[in-house]
Amino acid sequence: MKALKYHSAWNVELREVPDLHATGDDDVVVDIRYCGICGTDLGIVSGNYPVAVSGVTLGHEASGIVAEIGPAVTSVAVGDRVVINPTPYCGRCRMCQTQRINHCVNKHGTESGVSYDGAYADRYRTTSAFVHRVPDHVSLRAAALTEPLSCVVAGARKLRPPSLTANTYVIGAGPLGLLYTWVLSLKGLTPVVVEHSPARLEFARDRLPDGTGAYESLEEARGKFFNDPQAPLDIVVDTTSMLLEELFPQMACGGTYMSIGLKEKRASIDTMLLADRSLSVIGSIDSLHGSFVEAFHLITSGRIPAERLISDVVPLEQYRRGFAALGCDIDTRRFGPADQASCKVLIAPGDLSE
Ligand SMILES: [Zn+2]
Ligand SMILES: [Zn+2]
Repeated sequence: MKALKYHSAWNVELREVPDLHATGDDDVVVDIRYCGICGTDLGIVSGNYPVAVSGVTLGHEASGIVAEIGPAVTSVAVGDRVVINPTPYCGRCRMCQTQRINHCVNKHGTESGVSYDGAYADRYRTTSAFVHRVPDHVSLRAAALTEPLSCVVAGARKLRPPSLTANTYVIGAGPLGLLYTWVLSLKGLTPVVVEHSPARLEFARDRLPDGTGAYESLEEARGKFFNDPQAPLDIVVDTTSMLLEELFPQMACGGTYMSIGLKEKRASIDTMLLADRSLSVIGSIDSLHGSFVEAFHLITSGRIPAERLISDVVPLEQYRRGFAALGCDIDTRRFGPADQASCKVLIAPGDLSE
């Protein structure tokens, strides 16, 4: 089988590796159909997020068909269409038992595709608790967005809007930006998206929930969406993680600034303002207890049009094209903001018809 292996920054290769089989009693082996490219992957490949284990197979946002199961598996059968939860947790440690499974102390590193072999490959092996059967009316493409949506559901749980009228800004119209807009909208807020790239903005515009807006700059968003050039910043979700220092002094009293981008950036903030204005600065990564199931529900119930956020599907052999569409050019070793009309790009190791 083929697998996309990570060695070091910019040093990745599609390689022939031994086929995976169910060897443990509770093993489930999945023939991967789709695996989304995540900001994490762009960071790993470009060297901006140096957390992956050398030699690991990348890819963690996957769906596919069950190919083999161990003798103890009863929840899925061979041939079932499934989505994969790539984030292992033990359920027994202090972090797991206090609703912080994303920080489970018994997992090594983070998740499959980073610390363990992932799903940019023909096959992926996990255990039965980490696959969920996809209903017939939901495509495997849509299901592949469950993991990023789970991270968004987990992050959105941490936001406590003082009122549903809170001015809410989402910075960046990538997959996480659009998913945050959807989830916050379902929670009753009316977010506005800010995206500098005209092509990405264009893609986002007709894929947003009713009543929300998308603009090229914060100034434009304040002036046109809130009709006030000084519109207060009550909630900011920054998917770029670049704007804390600039926007922190502008936050409204009781406001919350959430940073979810995995880019290294030093920022200094005034701690007197933090207290005096009752501000919150919070971060979020990965899934929390039940967020994967919650995300799966939002996709299977049609509350979030996951498939419409997919801008491209590329065969595994053409993974470089998929990464390049998101600003990560492996050939020239250059990584910059995506300026194509791209959002979620899926890599497809297998049959594109399912
Ligand atoms: Zn991801
Ligand atoms: Zn644990």
